[in-house]
Amino acid sequence: MEKNIIYSGEYEKKLENISFGEFILESLNKGGYREFLINGETGQIWTYVDALRETKKIANCLYSFGIKRNDKIAIISENRHEIAAIHLASFCLNSIVAPINFSYTSREIKHALKLSQPRIVFVSNLSATPAIDAYKGLDFVEKIVHFDKLSSDDCAIALNDFVAKYKKNNFNLEEIVNQPIDIYSQSALIYLSSGTTGLPKGCELTQGNVFFTLRQYIDIQETFEHFQKFNRILNIAPWFHLLGFGNLFFSVISSQFANVYLSKFCPMLFLRTIEKYKIISMVAPPPIVLFLAKHPLVDQFNLSSLRYLTSGGAPLGKEVENEIKSRFKGNLHIFQLYGMTEILAATVFFKIENSVQQSVGIILKGVYAKVIDSNGVTLGPNKVGELCFKGPNVMKGYVGDPKATTETIDKDGWLHTGDLGYYDENFYFFIVDRLKELIKYKGFQIAPAEIEALLLSHPKIKDAGVIGIPNDVAGELPFAFVVKQPNIELTEDEVKDFIAQNASKEKWLRGGVKFIEEVPKNPSGKILRRELRETYKTIKSNL
Ligand code: AMP
Repeated sequence: MEKNIIYSGEYEKKLENISFGEFILESLNKGGYREFLINGETGQIWTYVDALRETKKIANCLYSFGIKRNDKIAIISENRHEIAAIHLASFCLNSIVAPINFSYTSREIKHALKLSQPRIVFVSNLSATPAIDAYKGLDFVEKIVHFDKLSSDDCAIALNDFVAKYKKNNFNLEEIVNQPIDIYSQSALIYLSSGTTGLPKGCELTQGNVFFTLRQYIDIQETFEHFQKFNRILNIAPWFHLLGFGNLFFSVISSQFANVYLSKFCPMLFLRTIEKYKIISMVAPPPIVLFLAKHPLVDQFNLSSLRYLTSGGAPLGKEVENEIKSRFKGNLHIFQLYGMTEILAATVFFKIENSVQQSVGIILKGVYAKVIDSNGVTLGPNKVGELCFKGPNVMKGYVGDPKATTETIDKDGWLHTGDLGYYDENFYFFIVDRLKELIKYKGFQIAPAEIEALLLSHPKIKDAGVIGIPNDVAGELPFAFVVKQPNIELTEDEVKDFIAQNASKEKWLRGGVKFIEEVPKNPSGKILRRELRETYKTIKSNL
């Protein structure tokens, strides 16, 4: 093998010897009457038997509606039971699910729908209005199915009516899943990610990607010595992000744990849920870890069941890591994951507790890693460069965007993450900075190019450049440098309000707005964000 490529070997046991659909049905069958899914807020429970029945029901309806292999289905909703059944049904039918953030505005939903081109869109009360607005004029959308509506109208069919209309008696899902399929070419999911530059794109992930990552999860869970089958885990991340998806599917289907979920973060409910359901493990973005480390409310609850806490999706500060360790004493084991949507979430690195602080961990089996300099030369230990990965977890590509795909996955199959980092002589990896434009607010992705495009649509704005500024609670906050049109009045608040009216709440300019004369750019017109970051540091030090 080429020098300085890191690889820790293959898995002995492979899972990919049956179709994904067969695997799902087998797993659900195995679970029987044990708990599968619990809504921590409402107490609604599905056993594995319920999940199997609901999966078959949804598959039946989708199939008789005419959903075929490779057709797409979008879901724009907060976490809820139905979503699990739709995902599982779609995987069995070899169709593709495109989950979309339910707090998106209609402009953002339209962009996401245009990328994934779904035939059916599932919506809830929270997303129905912008979703229905967005779908107007999109001919490929044939049906909007509403989870919360009791009766149908011209805009959307109620889920109950959809089931009543399309459910057939002679449907046999087992026959469909028995058909051979090449899982590494069969797409399963389309998630939004902005990649290293530009607007959000649709990451096309295959059944093989999912299967492989499932294998990695099983490996991780085997290291949790107190973990026992049918323990309850808490799923707080939204399922339109792979952190939530990973929890839902990998933990439950792989080892048959009960998945308790919440659809929003509400401090009391969150803590009560851990206590009430005796949660043993959860994966959470750093702001929630920070909450558990610092918030006084935490002391009012008995959280002694919680043994494993895994932080992922954004960097976890050293201070928070130390604080949470001391607050929970020896009882809680802290882990850290690093990953990205393009390599199917956070399972590339894994930090075993008490290992090197601030490291994101060691590489999991089956994946190759290297660190390269700006000339593409592979670097040895302790040298900072771009992290690249290769292996069965790398996405198929950005849907409908071959240019962005080849810019991210090179001809040898290496995925360039846009993250700067290094590994030490013991192969512990460290993330130090980001080469790519991405801003992460509470673990949510924000593409600066999207906010810039929106700002440029304002008649009083001539130019704009957006960066992320550091923030203890959220990780980063979006901050805009704005050039006004000549001789025009415009206030910072007007700019902030404009974004607040036209973009989902993660993208609001919480970091601030600063008017400048010119946005620094290179000769080809690319914004020099490093310079903007330096300008921000000067502004801050002058405050
Ligand atoms: P996403 O595709 O939304 O999961 O975002 C992936 C990006 O989040 C990565 O490329 C990193 O920039 C960042 N990220 C995820 N996990 C970590 C971590 N543990 N430490 C530092 N950055 C992280």
